[in-house]
Order: sequence, then C-alpha cells, then structure tokens
Amino acid sequence: DRRFPTQDGASPMMAQFLTLREEAPRDALLFYRMGDFYELFFDDAARAAAALDIALTKRGEHQGEPIPMCGVPAATAEAYLARLIRAGFKVAIGEQTEDPREAKKRGSKSVVERQIVRVVTPGTLTEDTLLEARSANRIAALCVTAAGDHALAWAEVSTGEFAAAPSTPATLAADLAAIDPVEILVEDTRYGEAGLLGSRARITGLAKAKYDRASGERRLKSRFGVQTLDAFGDFTGAEVSALGALLDYLELAQAGSPARLAPPKRQAAQSVMAIDPATRASLEIERTLQGHRKGSLLDAVDRTVTAPGARLLAARIGRPSTERAEIEARLDAVAALHGDRAQRETIRSRLKAAGDPERALTRLLLGRGGPRDLAALACALREGEALAAELSQRPTGLLPSRLADAAAALDLTPRQELAKLVADLETALSEEPGLMARDGGFIAPGWDGALDEARALRDESRKVIAGLQARYAEATGISSLKVKHNNVLGYFVEVNAKHGETLIGTEPFIHRQTMANAVRFSTTELAEIEARIAGAAERALGLELEHFERFRGRVETEAEAIRTAAQALASLDVAAGLAEWAEDCGATRPVLRDTPVFRIEGGRHPVVEAALKKAGDSPFTPNGCRLDGAGAEGPRLTFVTGPNMAGKSTYLRQNALILVLAQAGSFVPAAKAEIGLADRLYSRVGAADDLARGRSTFMAEMIEAAAILNQATAHSFVILDEIGRGTATFDGLSIAWATAEHLHAVNQCRALFATHYHELTRLADDLDAAGNVSLKAREWKGELVFLHTVAPGAADRSYGIEVARRAGYPPAALDRAKTILERLEADNHPSARLDDLPLFTAMPAPAPAKPSAVEERLNAIDADSLTPREALDVIYALKALS
Ligand code: ADP
Repeated sequence: DRRFPTQDGASPMMAQFLTLREEAPRDALLFYRMGDFYELFFDDAARAAAALDIALTKRGEHQGEPIPMCGVPAATAEAYLARLIRAGFKVAIGEQTEDPREAKKRGSKSVVERQIVRVVTPGTLTEDTLLEARSANRIAALCVTAAGDHALAWAEVSTGEFAAAPSTPATLAADLAAIDPVEILVEDTRYGEAGLLGSRARITGLAKAKYDRASGERRLKSRFGVQTLDAFGDFTGAEVSALGALLDYLELAQAGSPARLAPPKRQAAQSVMAIDPATRASLEIERTLQGHRKGSLLDAVDRTVTAPGARLLAARIGRPSTERAEIEARLDAVAALHGDRAQRETIRSRLKAAGDPERALTRLLLGRGGPRDLAALACALREGEALAAELSQRPTGLLPSRLADAAAALDLTPRQELAKLVADLETALSEEPGLMARDGGFIAPGWDGALDEARALRDESRKVIAGLQARYAEATGISSLKVKHNNVLGYFVEVNAKHGETLIGTEPFIHRQTMANAVRFSTTELAEIEARIAGAAERALGLELEHFERFRGRVETEAEAIRTAAQALASLDVAAGLAEWAEDCGATRPVLRDTPVFRIEGGRHPVVEAALKKAGDSPFTPNGCRLDGAGAEGPRLTFVTGPNMAGKSTYLRQNALILVLAQAGSFVPAAKAEIGLADRLYSRVGAADDLARGRSTFMAEMIEAAAILNQATAHSFVILDEIGRGTATFDGLSIAWATAEHLHAVNQCRALFATHYHELTRLADDLDAAGNVSLKAREWKGELVFLHTVAPGAADRSYGIEVARRAGYPPAALDRAKTILERLEADNHPSARLDDLPLFTAMPAPAPAKPSAVEERLNAIDADSLTPREALDVIYALKALS
C-alpha cells in the first residue's frame, strides 16, 4: 500500500507532481521529467533508489518534511528502465509537453506543462534495447465469464500481433505456456486461478468493468474501423471481452498514442498441440530446466539469420500445429529450400541484410521511431524484392504455396506507392542516419534544395567565425585569443586574464564575464553571425523533421503491406533455417498420417547428438520406435527398461521431440518417420529426477501424472520416465502399474514408459497392445559398456548389482543381493515370494580370515635384531611368498 502526501501547501511544481501521481497507476513508479533528468519523489524515490542502487537524496520540503528524491539522466534512462522492469516494477513516464520557454512567457513562477505519455510494463515494451531480439514479448489477458467460459487474448506490441483463443480451466496452464507471455492481465478477483500459478509472467489485476463485453466490442470495432468483428473470425463472448480488456490496457499504457496492432486473429483451440508447462519444462523445448535457451530443442534447430525469423521459429516450435494441411505447407517450403546449399546461401544472406523490419515499423507507428528505422524498412523491402525475384526464377508449379505467397508479398511491382516510398527513402536518407529525428543530419544532400541552402548558410557562417578569430587575434596582437561557444553566452571571445584587462572598454569588444584566469567578450558581429547560424540550423532541422513526418505518414499508409512483407521475410527465414538445419544433421521429411501411428527408423535426439558431436565423443546411436495408437496394429504402450545411464530418458525424449518437430513443420532427425498427428503431448519424470525444478515432492509428481490420466486421448502421445519412484517401492510399483493399465485401457494413447520396476515388464504379456524394449549394455573386461541400442524385450537382468560391485560393495553384501534378486525373479508374484525370504534374519557374520603366508612370516620377524644384510634377505623372501 503506497501513500503519497496531499497537495495542501504544495509548491506549484510539487502540486503538478502530485496531480500526475494521482493519474498514474498506483503500482507504477512515476518518472517526472525535469530538464535532462527524470526525477522520482517520495515513496517512488525510495523504491527506485533501492532497486537501482543509486543515491536517495532530498529536494526541498513539503508540509514541513524533506522530500525524498532520486533521479536518472534522461539520456541513459532506458538502461534504468530496463533494470526496473526486470526487477518487477512498472514505470509511468511524465514528460514535459511544452517548450519551457512557453511556460516562462506565462510568468516566472509558472510550471512547464507535463503529462503521462506512457506506462511502461513488461508487456508493453517496444525499445530495441529493452527487448530480447530473438524472442517474443507477449502480453496476455485472461477472461473468465460469469458462466465460467475461459478465453485468452494476447498481443505483441513490438510486432503488432493480436489474437484470441478459447481456453478451459484444465488447459489454461498449457494454453498460457504456449503463448509464453511476460505479463498477464486478469480480473483482480482471479489472481488465484490455478492455471496462472506456474507462469513466469508478471500478473496485473484489472477491475471487472474492464472485461465488459459490450464496451470491448465497441472498442475493437472503432479501433479497427469495422461494423462487425465477424470479418476477423468467429469470436466467443469471452474472447471479445479478453481482446477488449487487452486493447484498453494497451491504449492506456500508450496514453493516447494507441498501440498499433494488426486486426485480431482467432486461434481455434484444436489447431495447436497442447503441451502443458510440466511437459515443456521436462522436454526442454524452448529453454532448459535451468532456464537457458542454450541447450534447448529450439536452440539446437535454430539456424535463422534474423530476429523475426527466430521469433517465428520459436512460435512454431512452442505451438506445434495439429492441422495437417498447415504442416504439409510448411514442410513443402522447407523441402523446396533443402538440397541446394549455394542457392540457400544467397537467400539467407539477403534475409540477414533485411534485419528486423517488424519492430522498426511498430516504433515508427507508435511515434517512437527514428530515421534509422526508416532506413531499416527501406533496406528490408529492397532485399525482399530481390528475394521475390530469386524465388520467382524457379519453374512455376515447383514453387510451393508458402514460398509463392512470400514472393507475392515481397514483390514491389504491384505496389507502386510502396515501391516509390522505398526508392524515395533510399535517395533521401543519408548513409548512416541517426537514431533520433531531432538530432538531424539524416536527410542526404540533394533531396531538398531549401534544406541544402540552410545547411550551407549554417556551415558557411561557421567558417566566417573561424575567420573572425584570426582577424581579432591580429587586430589585438593577442595570438592566444579564441572564439568559443557555450549555451549561456553563445559565441564569445576569450583571452587570458592579463590580456583581458587591456581589452576591456576597447572597440568592438563588449565585456561579459571575468573569471579567475580568463576574460570573455562578445561583439556585435559575433552576435549577428550567431543569430544567422542559429536561424539556419533551426530552419534545417525544421525541414528535416518535416521530411521525417512526411515519410512516417507514408509508412503509416503502407503499414499493412509492410507488415505482410515483414511476415513473409520471417517465414522465409524459418523455412531456409530449418532446411539448413535438416541438411546439417541429416534430418528427413516426416510422412504425416491421420491415424495415431508412430513409426521411426534411425531416430536421434537432436540436442544430445549435437552435444556428443561437440564434445568429440562417440557418435549418437540411432534407434527406431514403433507405437501404434488405438486402431492400428502394433503396441501402443511400450515399457522401456535397462540399466541406469543406458539411455532410457534420451530415448523417450527423442521420440517426443521428433513429434514436436514434425508438427512444427520441420524435418526430423531420423532415417525415416511416419507420424500420426497428436492432439496433446505429455512428458512426466519421476520425482527423484525432478529436483532441478525444486518440486521434489511426491504429491507434485502425482498431480502431474493425474492430469495425463484425466486428459490424454487416443490421439495423444505420452512419455513417462520412472513414474512412481518418489515413494516406497511397493507403493510406487502399484501406482506405476495402475498408471500403465489406465493408459492402455482407458486413454488408449501412444505411450513410452521407462521404469526400473522389472515386474512391470510382465504386464506386456497380459495387455494386448503393450510391449517391451530395453537398452542394451554388455560387460566387457569387468566394465559395463552401454551400447545405447534399443532392442525388443525387457532388460534381462538388473545391472544394479554390477554397479554396486564396481562401487566397492563388500563381497558378502553383493552375494546377499544376488540371492534376493534370484528369489524375486524366480516367481511371477514377487511380493508373495518375499514372505518366505528370510529378510530379517541377521546376516551370518563372516568367519575371520586366516593370516596369509606373508603375514605369518612378517609376524615372526624381530625387526630390532636384524642386520642390514639379513633385512634385505627377508625382503627377497617376502617377495617370493607374495
Ligand atoms: P538413463 O535414462 O537410462 O539413465 P540417459 O538417457 O540419461 O540414461 O543417458 C545417459 C547418457 O548416455 C546420456 O547423457 C548420453 O550422453 C548417453 N546416451 C544416451 N542415449 C544415447 C545414444 N542413443 N547414443 C549415444 N549416447 C547416448
């Protein structure tokens, strides 16, 4: 709960600050612009100073108390903003919205007008410096209607993406994980919504009224200028509410200069493979368990050369499709770019040169862009045109639909206005235009005669000043005389103190300032030139700003075409990148099926394989897999056994990842793959393996496993790794057993089940669609050698005892373990058999070993009575005995 003082007795400036403070969201810090600084006061100052580790000072008093204050330079404010946002703050920006000279005209006491121009939150960033270039920065809104309907809307402000999809309480966590937002808006009574709990996003509460459907619909219609939303899709009421609430939040965050979003798209619930957060984490799809991109599936397959390409690839891998036509179209594009490395290289180098037009466009539309963004657009569109030409060279009919679409979107010929804009930008902009329009200097000479003239005058006058200095020095005979400039005096003559005395009162020098070791003068001539320079510079800058605004306006008119072109570039980059990866790692095109089959020959784990290769280790051993869901002939539930470290987890995961890649529209690391599309993918790892996630409790493991049994369908794909091991043996075995039976009989999904309960493997005989495979290992010269090959049948013995032996177990304990194992394995019902095992009889104490011959001989020696010669003889004798 944050308190700020009342306005009673406030100075005019403090009164203005407190008014803005009232307007700004309560939970945001207020950056109050004062000249070259943003200053923070009261509680804001205390919090920001602590978070930024900067000095907390005081400035004046309010109501008899000193005012706590801290400040950050406006020039470097972005870096501070970034740190505050990362630390979980929101920041409202109170800018000066009039020229301070205007305020002065109203009276010496009057305060410069200020307004909140923006509220910066994690989900509303657009600055390149604050954004991760290769990942999306989405903001989502959750709506739950009174009737219990769930919907999600999401947007990415920096690219204009705007969409909505239905959700349910059961799938909310998975749906959110697929969107992967950095900020989630939710009605403030629903903070506790279970599906929100696992999210890494910042949660922002909204009042219920913000979700009002009617006003949401009105807001959407007026924003996108349509009579009805039907044109964009068949949105549910909950979706409209979520979209409306999100749009309202973004408009407020942009304070008037509204977010530039593409018209909303509707995503049907069934069009995306559901992957819940636990599965995402355990498969390390977008990031590793430690939270790094490096080491994830995405990182392993990402060969894109542009940031938008990387973001689109992340979206595809994070939300694999379930629509066969869509996937085939993506695969066609990859296939078309596969095989011809040289040609792909030309395409990729053009893409690389095209850069990130999406974000440049959005910055321009938001009024936050600069000349460099204009140049970026021109460059991207020009490269795009060349790419279109490149693609169109292919014989017609051989260009798959996605590449043909991209070529069409990038062709400038039918878009005359856009083509003209690109050509004009290329001529008008200087070689390396700056970041900010107000710095000027971005319009090249020759574009505008009036501008060239103003600049010439400005530069000319600068030369005249240099000439004046020489003339004054000669006239006064003071060779050290200098003409300098500062903001207070403008141009002035400076001489050292000694010479200064002699100049005071002489023409044309007008004494202005005496300092410790220098004296300063102005002259009428200097003042005149000064005015001329200032006038010319101001005129030049004014003209440049006009050009900038004109170009910006033209960009705005062409925004849709530019956006389409930018998306085409991104999708080309993804296709070319995936083709590159496929060639690098020998991936093949999967054959898609509608029946739930899964037939892999020579499959590999893309991440483990790459790691082995990098470390120079022995190559990865490819393994096949065959799982046929209900209705097909093969086993749909396969138990995977084998010693520790044999490769069970790797095998399970590689098959899940192959599925993800295939449905994302990528080739897969396998010699051959026939894949029936899956609606949901689940991966669960037994609790003991799960410490990295900080969820070591058996309860968490069971909650996650329960979700599978409750939700998996005959089209789902499940991998379970040592489920049940988080509890006592028999308890765990029973749960694993029941889980397997349930998956087999009720869910009827494809499932790989790795287990160390060998008893389970017998289930395969009883269940009609279950089978066993095992990872092979061999003993060689007393060592256990892992072959990493998957073979039919259960593992033939437990290697645990072998591992124990190598770890130095006493022989008696090893013998005992072998006996117990043999007894357990001798019967189909181990638990019954254990009863007559003398489990709790004490182990016989081993008989004391007899002393060896060497020991007997040693005992007999009286060391003190030996001569050196005799001692040597004894050593020879002992050696002979040993
Ligand atoms: P398990 O789950 O059986 O304990 P893992 O799957 O964790 O075993 O594999 C252990 C290690 O063996 C992996 O880190 C990897 O280095 C190696 N490995 C696994 N599968 C293969 C394979 N098919 N080819 C080569 N090395 C493999």
